[in-house]
Amino acid sequence: MNIEKYLLDLEYKNPGEPEFLQSLREFLMSTREYLSDDFRLENAAILERLSEPDRVFMFKVPWTNDQGKVVVNRGYRVQYNNALGPYKGGLRFHPMLNLGTVKMLAFEQLFKNSLTSLPMGAAMGGADFDPKGKTEGEIMRFCQSFMLELWDLIGADVDVPGIDLGVGTREIGYLFGMYKKLTRRYSGVFTGKGLEWGGSLIRPEAAGYGIIYFLEALLNNRQEALQGKTITVSGFGNVAWGVISKAVELGAKVITISGPDGYIYDPDGITGEKINYLLEMRATHNDIVRPYSFEFPGTQFVEGKKPWERACDIAIPCAIQNELNAGDARQLVANGCRIVVEGANMPCTPEAQELMETHALTFIPGKAANAGGVAVSGLELAQNTVKLNWTRDEVDARLKEIMTGIYHLCVKHGKQPNGQIDFVKGANVAAFLRVVEAMMDQGVV
Ligand code: GLU
Repeated sequence: MNIEKYLLDLEYKNPGEPEFLQSLREFLMSTREYLSDDFRLENAAILERLSEPDRVFMFKVPWTNDQGKVVVNRGYRVQYNNALGPYKGGLRFHPMLNLGTVKMLAFEQLFKNSLTSLPMGAAMGGADFDPKGKTEGEIMRFCQSFMLELWDLIGADVDVPGIDLGVGTREIGYLFGMYKKLTRRYSGVFTGKGLEWGGSLIRPEAAGYGIIYFLEALLNNRQEALQGKTITVSGFGNVAWGVISKAVELGAKVITISGPDGYIYDPDGITGEKINYLLEMRATHNDIVRPYSFEFPGTQFVEGKKPWERACDIAIPCAIQNELNAGDARQLVANGCRIVVEGANMPCTPEAQELMETHALTFIPGKAANAGGVAVSGLELAQNTVKLNWTRDEVDARLKEIMTGIYHLCVKHGKQPNGQIDFVKGANVAAFLRVVEAMMDQGVV
């Protein structure tokens, strides 16, 4: 197959969806040799089948705000592929969310879920609803209206939504409440649930902890330690918080966080009560990081800039897709950064990745590094099935084992003739092979 020509067809077929096309391109480029060599895959149109979600739902979500005015949002659920298990993936509430972003996230989820080795297919959904500045009542009414459309599309053996940007345990609670009322069923049909009603310990920390476990495996393999390393982080949400907590526990120093307003530089490192303050800030200050600099003297707020201008050993972008561009990558290179780990989904642009490759930076894609979040969702479902709650240590040990396993899979499938590891290729190929085996076994469906 002529991949360039195929990509042009995909552009025509998916107009206005640059992020989806970006992730398809990356995947096709890194698995091309498998695809062109294997007649079996070509004949089964595996590529074409993987470039198309199983189905897409798009629906109206009307709700009434506190002033009594009706507001209309748009909801989505993309069920991408269920070869490995029931559809599984988060819900995102973000004002800029559109179909192309949801399809990209669903496609990335396919690889991520495959790498965890757990029985999870791939999906993603959400709405262009902005939770910022909304009251508790408004959020509840929005979630209830959203669920009126979604309830009969999901189910424990069908499709299991989880958390993502703008959707945490509070929103899952309101969604689950309505689901339960409509179906009269109490089942583990969501993940990210509250601890009292089926949630798992470590779920909030999971993506961040997982990223650091992956990084630890990488450094151990190079006879290096995390201890003493300087790390820059962007974002200050769930993933950033988990990353900072675990990195600090293991002796690293994290000197930045960021928000849409700019970034914080904390030369002494973010530790102890400052880490807890991230949660408080998120709950009370509406998506800005500036208040951190008022709370902790000796720290600096840099307005309108990104943290990549600070010297570091390791950079972990944890905010949003395409936040780190070629200019940022150039700064990282100039400041001595050696490793970039994607905490968010696809935060580095293709140009940034290219630049890092040219300068021999180690680049770890999000689909491998941040798979810990959905991995613990898988463990949450396992606990729901056996109706037991595992201890913190038990969940943590399994998460670490899964992340170390993903690291080794990437090494196995990403080894280059020169001995270097291409982690993008490793992650894509390892994940792809598992999905493809399952698809081939299950016939043309
Ligand atoms: N959105 C998270 C992820 O990227 C979690 C998805 C889930 O738990 O279903 O993997």
